[in-house]
Amino acid sequence: MNHLTVDEIINFVSSDKLDVDSVANAVRVNTHIRSCGECMSKVRAYQAVYGELFNICNKQYRRGLRMKNDSLHAAKEKKVYSLCLTEKYGR
Ligand SMILES: [Zn+2]
Repeated sequence: MNHLTVDEIINFVSSDKLDVDSVANAVRVNTHIRSCGECMSKVRAYQAVYGELFNICNKQYRRGLRMKNDSLHAAKEKKVYSLCLTEKYGR
């Protein structure tokens, strides 16, 4: 059984598209994590990062400090990038 790649997980967690590739990737991820606890916990970890960033942005928005989409995107990418490094090169 091949485990999910970091790219597949990131695409799954961060995708807001419904194109053929994204859907195919989502199907592969969902099918795999049903029987693989290891990948399931990785997906959860990535989802937690995205959720956390979403909450931060939301709070700031409510406080009136509107974060531009660009900087939110940059923050997500930075965080995900550091997760990738941890994933690839150990902690
Ligand atoms: Zn797996």
